[in-house]
Amino acid sequence: MKKPLLEFTDRGIYCDKGKFYIDPWKPVDDAVITHAHADHAYWGHKRYLAHHLSREVLYYRLGEINLQTIEYGETITKNGVEVTLFPAGHVIGSAQVRVVSQGEAWVVSGDYKVEDDGVCTPFESVPCHHFISECTFGMPVYKWKPQLQVFNEVNSWWRHNVEHNLATVIVGYSLGKAQRILQNLDLTIGKVYTHGVIENTCEALRRNGVVLHPTERIIPESNKEEVRKGIIIAPPSSVGTPWMRKFQPYSFGYCSGWMAIRGAKRRRAADRGFVLSDHADWDGLISAIDATGCEKVYLTHGYTASFSRYLNTIGFDAHEVHTLYGAEEEELIEQAGDITA
Ligand SMILES: [Zn+2]
Ligand SMILES: [Zn+2]
Repeated sequence: MKKPLLEFTDRGIYCDKGKFYIDPWKPVDDAVITHAHADHAYWGHKRYLAHHLSREVLYYRLGEINLQTIEYGETITKNGVEVTLFPAGHVIGSAQVRVVSQGEAWVVSGDYKVEDDGVCTPFESVPCHHFISECTFGMPVYKWKPQLQVFNEVNSWWRHNVEHNLATVIVGYSLGKAQRILQNLDLTIGKVYTHGVIENTCEALRRNGVVLHPTERIIPESNKEEVRKGIIIAPPSSVGTPWMRKFQPYSFGYCSGWMAIRGAKRRRAADRGFVLSDHADWDGLISAIDATGCEKVYLTHGYTASFSRYLNTIGFDAHEVHTLYGAEEEELIEQAGDITA
């Protein structure tokens, strides 16, 4: 039997012909990285390949790694196998990886969302024979509202807090959610202040040439009363800490796809939950998978068992695979963020 072009190993997704891995979780020689989130970009590989816009965040998170970066649509060849990155619409710099050999195409989605968030390059569907997809939110209960509607709610909540002398703390993870929040705030209401973990990631993106709205890092000398009139963007790890408590009285809002259901303790503590995700919802996943025209789909993380069963009933050839990419990405990322903060 012919060896498949990509296989699932205990180190990650592997291309034997090209001798490289995609998002490996154990140290390897040659790693192609879909995006800089901690469950996809691990430390310890000899060589990394990623999109240009992942460069500074990867350096910030992983230190001085040996990194090559390329543009979307640019193809490089590894041992005769073609590797091309396409936009995944997940966070700035996120990519799907297409691997082609002898006319056979495989695509690894990494994480993706189909809605254009106005901040990262929008998702593009890539035709392929085999599609390796995430399905973090692969349950019918997950159905996102257009982000404009969510940000109208966020901005009116902020305005209301200012009028009632409440500080406003909005929580989202530092790469992706934080920039999406920042770029959609109504800056006529006030200024944007950031926790160090958020500011470090924004700074890395700015070094990479990304233009973001102005932010001010909160430092011990910051004027607390001024900060309380603005909005504070903070990471999940800051919830319930003395750092956050010093802005009392405040209203605390949490932005996450998980707000659609009863969530973890930190999220339950929120005064307001905003359902906002950087992953595709149920309909988004199905339309994205369908658009590839693939013969087979492999599901890496999320509700893989029930979602693959469902896909099989509607005529796809779907398989569940085991990886270390995690639904608890938010927690992972912030743990990683804390170390460098
Ligand atoms: Zn991710
Ligand atoms: Zn992930």
